[in-house]
Amino acid sequence: MFENLSDRLGGVFDRLTKQGALSEDDVKTALREVRVALLEADVSLPVARDFVKAVQDKATGAAVTKSVTPGQQVVKIVNDELVHVLGGDDAEPGKLKIDSPPAPILMVGLQGSGKTTTTAKLAKRLKDRDGKRVLMASLDTNRPAAMEQLQLLGTQIGVDTLPIVKGETPVQIAKRAKQQATLGGYDVYMLDTAGRLHIDEELIAQAAEVRDVANPRETLLVVDGLTGQDAVNVATEFDDKIGVTGVVLTRMDGDGRGGAALSMRAVTGKPIKFVGLGEKMDALETFEPERIAGRILG
Ligand code: GDP
Repeated sequence: MFENLSDRLGGVFDRLTKQGALSEDDVKTALREVRVALLEADVSLPVARDFVKAVQDKATGAAVTKSVTPGQQVVKIVNDELVHVLGGDDAEPGKLKIDSPPAPILMVGLQGSGKTTTTAKLAKRLKDRDGKRVLMASLDTNRPAAMEQLQLLGTQIGVDTLPIVKGETPVQIAKRAKQQATLGGYDVYMLDTAGRLHIDEELIAQAAEVRDVANPRETLLVVDGLTGQDAVNVATEFDDKIGVTGVVLTRMDGDGRGGAALSMRAVTGKPIKFVGLGEKMDALETFEPERIAGRILG
């Protein structure tokens, strides 16, 4: 997930921790390399700049403790700052507000981002881990076979889907899903909205209309983690126009540069709740800042 960034930072810190005493210049040089490594990982410029500045301020002010070398101390400060940037101050990563059944979860995102796959993965997780009864409904009236795709996934994972009725509008489907979820005693119902290749007015208008009808407890934006800063721009726009409560970054199993994961929280203010790590139905992980920081620093 973060191989390149991890290699680069590993090299910088190896050199730093091997030194006995550190001059201010040593730290400056190391942090310059950190900044370049972050930018190469497609972290947005302001985030990379703030990151380095925060580390520098803390490193300068830090009292030297005897148990660690100055180099180790800098690495610890970098680790803490990474956890912070990744959203480590949020309580309980991956937790969803799905009390008061039936709780609606609205899934939004661009076409091809992995939205339908993620809807099914998350439904499976809620069923298997939390023992929730989940109903899934596809509101995608644009893409041929989108509804059948979700239905097929539902059968695979043993999660119910709303019966397909052709000719309904997304709002009508959302209303029917709510009714069925209430009558059927479901804990959660998930609304998989239509995606587009780009954010356009129609997409936003449709998602907003569904949001107003469904009054979702969570609105999760699914974005392709391989697209780096673009993923962050997409999230900013969706949040401005529809309001999102959390982000799912997909394709984090690919050789993306990881920048989206690092910039997302700082730029959008929204937590990454889960990461997609493959096409299989169990390839969804809670986004845990501490663990991710650990992976980045190796
Ligand atoms: P949608 O148009 O946003 O609903 O996208 P889909 O859910 O149909 O996914 C598009 C493709 O991406 C499918 O082939 C999925 O199997 C694949 N995909 C989704 N999530 C991931 C992921 O986390 N990793 C990988 N490698 N592929 C994924």
